[in-house]
Amino acid sequence: MDYQAILEEIFEEVQPLFGQGQVADYIEPLKQVDPNKFGIAIETLDGQCYQLGDSQERFSIQSVSKVFNLALATNLVGDALWQRVGMEPSGNPFNSLVQLEYENGIPRNPFINAGALLVVDVLLDHLADANADMLGFVRQLRCSDVYYDEVVAESEKTTGYNNTALVNYMKGRGNIRHEVGQVLDAYCHQCSITMTCTGLARSFAFLANGGVVPGSGQRILTTSQTKRMNAIMLTCGFYDESGEFAYKVGMPGKSGVGGGVAAVIPGKLSIAVWSPELNEQGNSVLGIKALELFTTKTGLSIF
Ligand code: GLN
Repeated sequence: MDYQAILEEIFEEVQPLFGQGQVADYIEPLKQVDPNKFGIAIETLDGQCYQLGDSQERFSIQSVSKVFNLALATNLVGDALWQRVGMEPSGNPFNSLVQLEYENGIPRNPFINAGALLVVDVLLDHLADANADMLGFVRQLRCSDVYYDEVVAESEKTTGYNNTALVNYMKGRGNIRHEVGQVLDAYCHQCSITMTCTGLARSFAFLANGGVVPGSGQRILTTSQTKRMNAIMLTCGFYDESGEFAYKVGMPGKSGVGGGVAAVIPGKLSIAVWSPELNEQGNSVLGIKALELFTTKTGLSIF
């Protein structure tokens, strides 16, 4: 398969979509990002990397980090996690308060904000220094080029009223053990992680490889845990657009409001796209289209 030629075709075909979305404007530093950026990278399990456009430029991975959050928690506590968070698609926006109230402070799944905040609370039970340990975890995924953007983290900590409300509500229902500020600090740091498309594709490769990091051979998750992680990405990775993403793209994946999307074809490859303009659900317009074109042109998908 000539992946490079396919990436070039995709790049041409997504051009008319520039201008159809909007960059995230509720996080101050993200407002400044150039909406015309577009990067894409593929990492195959046999160690080849294909890339195009702004694939070497760092961007804020935002909710894509919820995959690292869940992977690390799964690694530390296994199935015990599911007593405090659900595994059903939310069908609601990623920051919904009303759903959390209906469901007594048990978040629907780990990939909406409430769920990720809960998973962070679990991590805090087990990590000596949650912020340092999270970066260390991502670096084990053969991605050394990963850092926190303290400006983004600080901005979200000071203006993240909605996230504060979610943690407070869960704490009120007895589902958060640590201090609200501690949970928010670790969560906002995770969201502020900056990576490139090439780094992000490489860091997701273990999810295409049964839980083992290609190259280093390090096992992060068991085969069964990896299957489950990919199932949750497929059903919950794009919030209330998860069904449409499965229908049009057919890959387990995860998006973030920084405009990044990462996805995998188990047994074959991982792929990351970055384009900052978002649709109404908070997913990258060009990112989703690029992945739809990728599975259509290659005939690869999990179905
Ligand atoms: N940091 C963002 C928030 O908490 C992440 C949301 C997202 O990427 N969907 O709102």
